[in-house]
Amino acid sequence: MIDTHAHLEPTFCDISRGAGLNAVILSGSNLENSKNNLLLAQKYSFLYPAVGIHPQEIADDINLLEALAKNPNVIAIGECGLEFLGKVNTKKQEKYFRIQIELAQKYNKPLIIHARKAVDEVVEILSEYKNLKGVFHCYSGGKKRIKKVLELEPTSPGSSFEPKWYFGFDGNLTYEEGLEEVVKKIPRDRILAETDSPLLTPEPFRGQENRPAYVKFVYQKIAYIWGKSFEETEEIIDENVKRLFKIF
Ligand SMILES: [Zn+2]
Repeated sequence: MIDTHAHLEPTFCDISRGAGLNAVILSGSNLENSKNNLLLAQKYSFLYPAVGIHPQEIADDINLLEALAKNPNVIAIGECGLEFLGKVNTKKQEKYFRIQIELAQKYNKPLIIHARKAVDEVVEILSEYKNLKGVFHCYSGGKKRIKKVLELEPTSPGSSFEPKWYFGFDGNLTYEEGLEEVVKKIPRDRILAETDSPLLTPEPFRGQENRPAYVKFVYQKIAYIWGKSFEETEEIIDENVKRLFKIF
């Protein structure tokens, strides 16, 4: 099992892996926690750092991100994207997003995309660029936007074709029934499991603080939706993680 999206504080001392948890990808949402991700990953070999600026945290100086992004230990850029909830500066969000897309291109890393109330706009921006890959973290585009995301890839898969865009699902999959239908419509080689710790805690711990080990409940739910065993499901999802993030 791999939790492909967590936010852990450096002071969080119970970074317990939990049985069967092989790796955790640390998402960055501002400069400070992006730096912390790098430090934490130095300390714990099962943690893999991403660096990025979340669309709701665009007060940080985006020009300082490259110094972190070029670190060879960084496995992804993000989370970055657009979030059109509340009163937001859409122009500045877009600027920050484009700069992070360019960093992903320059350093050949996948993107961890945060798109809330803005999946169409994010897809439109991504479609302007070439050679990108990544995950729509906590995918919220519904059934109708799956095709659009998949169409970000070349249309005629050749022999060297490798899936480039993935869909991340979190603890809310355990209690939002509509999401089951979404998972059913996505090719299995595009699905990732996440926790978004400390938020989005799955059943049966909903209401408490989330932790990476609880990604197990997301795997369980996906196994149920697919009608497969836990082990078969784990094999498919973990292959997807390795293919996208090039870890292990
Ligand atoms: Zn996150």
